[in-house]
Amino acid sequence: MQEQNKQMEKIISLCKQRGFIYPGSEIYGGLQNSWDYGPLGVELKNNIKNLWWQRFVSSRDDIVGIDAALIMNPKVWEASGHISEFNDPLVECKKCHERFRADHLEKNKCLNCGGEITESKQFNMMFRTYLGPVDDGENQVYLRPETAQAIFVDFKNVLQTSRQTLPFGIAQMGKAFRNEITPGNFIFRTREFEQMEIEYFIKEEDWEKHFDKWAKEMHEWIQSVGIDKKKIHELDVPKDELAHYSKKTIDFEFDFPFGRDELYGLAYRTDFDLKNHEKNSGENTKYRDQESGEEFWPHVIEPSLGVDRTVLAVLCSAYHEEDDRVVLKLKPEIAPYKAAVFPLMRNKPELVELAQKIYKDLREKFVIAWDDRGNIGKRYYSQDQIGTPFCITIDFDSLDDDTVTVRDRDSMKQERISIAELEAYLRDKSQYLSTSIYVQTN
Ligand SMILES: [Zn+2]
Repeated sequence: MQEQNKQMEKIISLCKQRGFIYPGSEIYGGLQNSWDYGPLGVELKNNIKNLWWQRFVSSRDDIVGIDAALIMNPKVWEASGHISEFNDPLVECKKCHERFRADHLEKNKCLNCGGEITESKQFNMMFRTYLGPVDDGENQVYLRPETAQAIFVDFKNVLQTSRQTLPFGIAQMGKAFRNEITPGNFIFRTREFEQMEIEYFIKEEDWEKHFDKWAKEMHEWIQSVGIDKKKIHELDVPKDELAHYSKKTIDFEFDFPFGRDELYGLAYRTDFDLKNHEKNSGENTKYRDQESGEEFWPHVIEPSLGVDRTVLAVLCSAYHEEDDRVVLKLKPEIAPYKAAVFPLMRNKPELVELAQKIYKDLREKFVIAWDDRGNIGKRYYSQDQIGTPFCITIDFDSLDDDTVTVRDRDSMKQERISIAELEAYLRDKSQYLSTSIYVQTN
């Protein structure tokens, strides 16, 4: 465990030093496990979201997206059961007053000082705030604790405007908020986080078939985004631990450096949500079968992914220490920079001029880094650390024969490529996705 914690510390330190992830509000001493994505982190995170949206929404006929408001009518959370059920058992140390989740304690003793603890009481994890200038109960609202409910609430509108027929899905990504008693482990458990969720609507009798299909889709996603599949384990959540809406859930767990823990969830939510929204809103939330005319609530399979946990699992999978370098072996599709361009020497204007031209041309198509500091070895070292898949060096031969050296991050092999072919080369190697596909949320 000591060794593994050291691994985690190294990743956190790299993230901070190279601009992936910083402690939130750091100049004020931080704020209880909140984190900010820096220039490279936001590229990595957007690339992951883009890949997900492209894979599950843009390229499929049977899934459409939405982007709903973070603050919803509080009746939504009554219908969904969050107001009555979304609780954690909270205990407090009688001596040092540290608070814990009761189910996180192995013995009934304070983890901090060994003191006696109070009886556990239910603590609702939704963040409360107020709409408008008067902060009384009437105006109390919640920051959404999951993206899923907006999909159910918008179900009828989507159905009427998208002409989907069963089976079909609605996807959403965006922020959600949970007032966790004990956040921790870097970006693993934070009170503010981003989700990528799909509610896939089906006929009740088909649920097992679709559940299995989605389990397979999730394994394929895990591989496509570059998470080490050897560290993935499926956990069939025992009946007595299932969430209040679920009949079956599989947790996809990952071997993080701090231990095995939940990465993704796949849940069979039955028709719980649509049914309750009809009951609570008085609006018909049923689906009408075009052929039979029959009306019913579709059942739902929910593949639920956390963006931040994906980032963490990707970083842990990509981080490698080799003889004389640290290298992030990120998939080229999600690497913050697709390539870095260097002039061999910074004090030779003819090299710099050609290198700048190549850099500017490529930058119109890809996110590209420029580096002219120090020697080539140092620049390789620096780009390896942030996972840049290709380094392009412009040298004196380039001036004569219009070729450049392209060095591969993983094999460290170098080859000469003609300048005219660089764009196609990068496109081919990095399976570049057009950023226009990406739908910005929040
Ligand atoms: Zn204590």
